[in-house]
Amino acid sequence: MCGIVAYIGDKKAFPIILKGLKRLEYRGYDSAGIAVNNGTELNLYKKAGKVVELEKFAKDKDTSGNVGIGHTRWATHGKPNDVNAHPHASGNSKFALVHNGIIENYAVLKEELEKRGHIFKSETDTEVLMHLIEDIISKQNCDLFEGTRQALNEVIGAYAIVVISEDNPNEIIAAKKSSPLVIGVGIDEFFIGSDATPIIEYTKNVIYLEDGEIAKLSLTSGLTLKTIQNVEKTPYIQELEMKIETLEKGGYDHFMLKEIFEQPRSIQDCMRGRLMLHQNYISLGGIEAYQDKIFAAKRLIIIACGTSWHAGIVGEYLLEELARIPVEVEYASEFRYRNPIIDENDIVIAISQSGETADTLAAIELAKSKGATIIGICNVVNSTIARATDCGAYTHAGPEIGVASTKAFTAQVTVLTLISLLFGKNKGVIEPARFTRLMHELNAIPSKVEEVLKSDAYIKSIAEIYKDAPNALFLGRGINFPVALEGALKLKEISYIHAEGYPAAEMKHGPIALIDEEMPVYVIATQDASYEKVVSNIQEVKARKGKVIAIVTKGDKVVKNIADHVIEIPKTDDMLVPLLATIPFQLLSYHVAVMRACNVDQPRNLAKSVTVE
Ligand code: GLU
Repeated sequence: MCGIVAYIGDKKAFPIILKGLKRLEYRGYDSAGIAVNNGTELNLYKKAGKVVELEKFAKDKDTSGNVGIGHTRWATHGKPNDVNAHPHASGNSKFALVHNGIIENYAVLKEELEKRGHIFKSETDTEVLMHLIEDIISKQNCDLFEGTRQALNEVIGAYAIVVISEDNPNEIIAAKKSSPLVIGVGIDEFFIGSDATPIIEYTKNVIYLEDGEIAKLSLTSGLTLKTIQNVEKTPYIQELEMKIETLEKGGYDHFMLKEIFEQPRSIQDCMRGRLMLHQNYISLGGIEAYQDKIFAAKRLIIIACGTSWHAGIVGEYLLEELARIPVEVEYASEFRYRNPIIDENDIVIAISQSGETADTLAAIELAKSKGATIIGICNVVNSTIARATDCGAYTHAGPEIGVASTKAFTAQVTVLTLISLLFGKNKGVIEPARFTRLMHELNAIPSKVEEVLKSDAYIKSIAEIYKDAPNALFLGRGINFPVALEGALKLKEISYIHAEGYPAAEMKHGPIALIDEEMPVYVIATQDASYEKVVSNIQEVKARKGKVIAIVTKGDKVVKNIADHVIEIPKTDDMLVPLLATIPFQLLSYHVAVMRACNVDQPRNLAKSVTVE
């Protein structure tokens, strides 16, 4: 979590960093801070709260200087207050550092440093690293690069750091391990960001730092890259494809709403060049190369967290039904710590929007160490997970800024559908006629999503009725069960309403006890294989006076007569219903959250890319 921005060059650093932090705020928003070197001294400004609080605070202060570092925090060690905000200064105030990640051995290091006279102001692990660097520099009389390099050899944990010094306004030091860091290379200037979004408007030439690398960005000597073991490296500069417009709200009130409405296009982008309708063919080059190994595997293991885990469960239904491959879906955080039985015959599919999810990354490393083959499904191009996997498919949904995932989810499900169809066809387990029909149905999904989005005003009117209900149940069966889970998660995370997702048939084993006339029950009751069963489940809810809001297939009459409200979605193949049924739940959560005056794009306690375990 957390966002880092830094600049060195001939422009004023403060406004560039401030703007960059606003772009990165989705990564963490507990507090923000900037340090700039005005040529003679380091000025540090830090404030609890959002970046705008920092902006107000620094308004009348000296923010001059052409080199600076900034941070927007997602607290792990210490409360989100002014003191714990980054940057953290060294004891002699000569250096300042921003950090993303966790220094796991900070307590031992802190104790040793305290014995040597260091006094700490904050509760953070980060300040310990700053003092450790200072300690090494003063003991060995070395420069900042060398002091930082040596300090990093003593550190256990995850970090992306940027450090500057008062005495040398011509250089910045940056390093990373397990947390992302990108360097933008301009003409006589450098930019740094936790991702490329703060950099893109200035330069398209970037270097993604690798784990264990440390860089010196100098206005006099250019860029030096080494490993922290002191081995010289040659920087690899690549060109970004991202467009700046994708980072703006484009007339919508919130990024989340914009991203919900982008789904016809994002799903289309995800299928582009892959769903070859006229050739009746699916092209997923990278993955296809591993196909024999995949078919020989006894099972596929999908690992993910949060919304991506829900996409993984949809994937389980798709892969088992269409490709007849057994699938297990695991929370990455559980998988990594339970000594899983896995070997070189196993195939792991890792799903992560950001491609930086710490638990998923650690689970990948574990599976890799046992010889498994890893397929990645990520949204962020060149992210750590994308690079750590053997092969994969990007979701191509474009930058997702709203913390609650929407378009990334439907894109993940789209990729999993393509993979299932590809494997099903190449294994010869899917009938050719069904394959062709599904190809056409999938191709029609973007326009059907467009149609679902037209119900926005109606869904808003339903949100108005149930916005104050303190609890909600989401029910679905079969492939729509994970859609119910995802619906409940959306409502929880942005409106802070307690919500549970359940397989509809499980209701009678417990949650039915919760139902009374106050309880809204959102049910996916589309006309598919489990339709009659779901209708019975709706009757059970109504018999207990629950309020039913059902997602139904267009033209449905039966559920309309029983439910309190129905939201129609166009008819599609049973296997593709999740791509449509999830949209009304996204809109519903969005409107409820707005009506409850919640911060939709930056819900409390959350952050977009979870780079800590
Ligand atoms: N561990 C550091 C802190 O708590 C950095 C957290 C972050 O990545 O924002 O301040």
